[in-house]
Amino acid sequence: LDANGEHFSREELDIERALRPLSFDDFTGQEQVLENLQIFVQAANLRSEALDHTLFHGPPGLGKTTLAHILANELGVGIKVTSGPVLDKPGDLAGLLTNLDERDVLFIDEIHRLSPVVEEYLYSAMEDYRIDIMLETGPNARSVQISLAPFTLIGATTRSGLLTAPMRARFGIQSRLQYYDTELLSTIVQRSAEILGVPITNEAAIEIAGRSRGTPRISNALLRRVRDFAQIKGNGSIDLDISRIALKALNVDAHGLDEMDNKILSTIIEKFKGGPVGITTLATAVSESAETLEEVYEPFLIQQGFLVRTPRGREATQRAYEHLGISSPGDQKNLF
Ligand code: ADP
Repeated sequence: LDANGEHFSREELDIERALRPLSFDDFTGQEQVLENLQIFVQAANLRSEALDHTLFHGPPGLGKTTLAHILANELGVGIKVTSGPVLDKPGDLAGLLTNLDERDVLFIDEIHRLSPVVEEYLYSAMEDYRIDIMLETGPNARSVQISLAPFTLIGATTRSGLLTAPMRARFGIQSRLQYYDTELLSTIVQRSAEILGVPITNEAAIEIAGRSRGTPRISNALLRRVRDFAQIKGNGSIDLDISRIALKALNVDAHGLDEMDNKILSTIIEKFKGGPVGITTLATAVSESAETLEEVYEPFLIQQGFLVRTPRGREATQRAYEHLGISSPGDQKNLF
């Protein structure tokens, strides 16, 4: 189960891994973020120091995990991977921390889901590279402080609003990842097609990219499904026609909006007369948390011009009405 709550088979995971860029040069987009990271990595390498603790935030599938692996590669160090919900007890964390070599990376996905005790335990590790561990139990129980090798914690979160202030303050480097435009995504689709060994035309790559919700993970997933269609219904290579047939069969929205995106828009329009509606009210109406709406769904809908934020709440735009094929109050005014 990944951060999106999606299930992947073992084969899909292997493909996902094969498609993952391994170096700064391989990675497309997020230019500003990348430029800064390259400087910080060079500086850390020059001084033979651990890179500062780094936090990536942004919606799922934009490359946070990929960047963590790239940083480890570019630092020439090892990486250990875990996630917030998996780290139950301070003991689990201690096991990981004491096994890190100098300058290694510890990657914690969904870091906003660490339990408070584990989070607290992490503070001294991050700050002073020291932790307390309990030796023995019962009457002989005692805690000793041990030093850790200097390491880099890389945290990833889709919900930066849920991170505590003390946690956030401990990250020297903080980067927010943005949605990718169609051109960047089509470059990613072409690269992935090459790795998968399937020929693809420019137009087809752009078509797939434009329906990917600004998200490389979705681009890659759509590419794999279109490839299936090309192999079974076509001649094995991907052109615009077979892409359109496949995307239609897959029920992929023309703008790449997913079910929840469409639910949000239709709820605002049908239940709240197009808005404005407060985020909490909206969240209840679509059965999602307000934080997830704000951090996962809303940014894309706003960026694409389907939704606007006003002081009184969220409003659906003309574009949202058109997209859902509902006539807007604006249209009706024109009738009179
Ligand atoms: P996150 O951790 O933000 O949810 P991931 O790093 O797991 O996202 O990225 C999901 C998939 O998308 C990766 O397997 C990778 O193949 C692809 N991907 C993400 N960003 C890029 C990029 N900039 N260039 C190429 N592929 C990317």
